[in-house]
Amino acid sequence: MSSHVLILGGTSEARALATALAARPGIRVTTSLAGRVAEPGALDGEVRVGGFGGAGGLAGWLREEGVDALVDATHPFAESITANAARAAIETGVPAVVLRRPGWRPGPGDHWHPVTSLDAAAELLPRLGRRVFLTTGRLGLASFARLTGIHFVVRSVDPPEPPMPPDTHVLLARGPFTVPGETALLREHRVDVLVTKDSGGAATVAKLTAARDLGLPVVVVQRPPLPDGVTAVPDVKGVLERLVIG
Ligand code: NAP
Repeated sequence: MSSHVLILGGTSEARALATALAARPGIRVTTSLAGRVAEPGALDGEVRVGGFGGAGGLAGWLREEGVDALVDATHPFAESITANAARAAIETGVPAVVLRRPGWRPGPGDHWHPVTSLDAAAELLPRLGRRVFLTTGRLGLASFARLTGIHFVVRSVDPPEPPMPPDTHVLLARGPFTVPGETALLREHRVDVLVTKDSGGAATVAKLTAARDLGLPVVVVQRPPLPDGVTAVPDVKGVLERLVIG
């Protein structure tokens, strides 16, 4: 008899966890992806793609597939699936662990402007600069679509779709990124303000170091809170310590 672990994925931590669990005898591991990225890359273990149909759908999947443990290793800004996972775990009694990489912290020399939403970031931008490096992902560009007189350099893995700001230059790229690379990019596009989510992690942190080195302001969209009563572990090791599986 093997234990079945469902990982709600879409992050590098989810990928590392799948690798760690797939290497353990007696564990069946399935990673679930939303299907937003065209070519997500290979994953160890089984993979399923697409929404479950809300918390009830996820609860049904947990029961039907005999899931023994659920790990929510989704992105810190994936608020709906995290809420659904918490509800489905309560409904089914399946033990659940949330994996959230720690957020970034400002250091000496940083000029960070924390905001609570993309709309709030858009509201603040005209006061901070005219040439924006926007790294908040291809979804949510609508928040910035009404901003005229500002040049946007938007970086995303897959091409963004309208609505987006009228003066937008799109760069398609997937991390990890380096400080020299990010510094060159900020200089080349004469960026005067950076916008990022507080995603945390090493793969995309270089832009913050580059912005600090160049003295640029950074608008940082804060994370949504976890559901009531839910706590998170910061890394794969924490999940492995917390999981109760065969
Ligand atoms: P979201 O707003 O929380 O989720 C919207 C809906 O998408 C969910 O209700 C669920 O549909 C489906 N979904 C989301 N994650 C799923 C998963 N891992 N497996 C199956 N269905 C999933 O999520 P999002 O912000 O659009 O993010 C989607 C995915 O991209 C997540 O896996 C996340 O880890 C990854 N990601 C997100 C960001 C970001 O900035 N938000 C950045 C990088 C990666 P049903 O209700 O039908 O089940």
